[in-house]
Amino acid sequence: MRKCSINDLNSVFEKISQSAVLYIPVDGENGADYKIWEKGVELSNALNTNKSPKNFFFPQSEDLVEFKTEGKDIEVIDIRDSKEDFVVFGVRACDVKSFEVLDRVFLSEPVDSYYADRREHGVIISMACSRPVETCFCQTFDIDATNPLGDIACWKTDDAVYFEAKTEKGQALMDKISDLTSESDDKAVEEQKTKTTEIMKRLPLADLKADKFGAGKTEEFFNDPAWAELSQSCLGCGTCTFVCPTCQCYDIKDYNTGKGVIRYRCWDSCMYSDFTRMAHGNSRNSQLERFRQRFMHKLVYYPENNEGLFSCVGCGRCLSKCPISMNIVKVMKTLGGKNNG
Ligand code: SF4
Ligand code: SF4
Repeated sequence: MRKCSINDLNSVFEKISQSAVLYIPVDGENGADYKIWEKGVELSNALNTNKSPKNFFFPQSEDLVEFKTEGKDIEVIDIRDSKEDFVVFGVRACDVKSFEVLDRVFLSEPVDSYYADRREHGVIISMACSRPVETCFCQTFDIDATNPLGDIACWKTDDAVYFEAKTEKGQALMDKISDLTSESDDKAVEEQKTKTTEIMKRLPLADLKADKFGAGKTEEFFNDPAWAELSQSCLGCGTCTFVCPTCQCYDIKDYNTGKGVIRYRCWDSCMYSDFTRMAHGNSRNSQLERFRQRFMHKLVYYPENNEGLFSCVGCGRCLSKCPISMNIVKVMKTLGGKNNG
């Protein structure tokens, strides 16, 4: 384990940004979001960012390919911009876990080469949580907020930042900042882990369990009458899907620039009435069906196809962002029984 003084963290950022674009969480008017580091940009102390870091690998909108026509000839031009090296600093354990969920979708055959390029060119520096909040429930999905994964794991105390390389990519980056860090024992890190674990035990969602969900539960939950009440007030705004680190629905569209056609991909939401609309109409006609789809996918269908891995990481974003205060925890408590958490 290596460490640097908190006062030297900006020097570490400067060193990293000499060889790659560095993104860090930065405070804004409405909370923290990732920004490119440059001199004068300060690291946020917020627990997490408004938007999750999935944007770095699966951007909200990205140009895929351009078509140019001349007479009967069509030229296909690869315009991807996914080959730039970058580093994301301060990713929480829940969000690091979300990359595993996304990997299973985008890196399965046929591999999504745009996503794969970004995964190859990105280095993740995670950050252990020391002040989890009441909307956190990562422990429901066996995620340890005090011990995040990533290419490098970090722990920040009042006076120092501790680093531990977890992958070859992470070690290569650690080598680049070796003159700004020094060998250290893990005493302060272990103390922080113990304190944070105690806080986690006292959080309101500490006892929420996911055991009732998972593979083979479609029949049990699909026709549950509770979906009607749960979905009744849903506005279909899609906020929950856009802030969610594991949601991965997208649409592909063509845009005529006047000089050619650009094919681009952008996030979509299974909560929208026109999602996957086909010539014959929509496959899910009511908000109840769309609402049910989102939660059944996270709690039943995805684990069924992915060795039990849930497609929720307990980040709590949908708990704090939904305009009608509906969220996956309410769904889990309602369907899983009143004694669930
Ligand atoms: S659950 Fe909430 S955030 Fe999600 S679509 Fe419905 S109203 Fe919007
Ligand atoms: S469903 Fe909600 S709590 Fe779960 S990962 Fe998505 S935003 Fe986070």
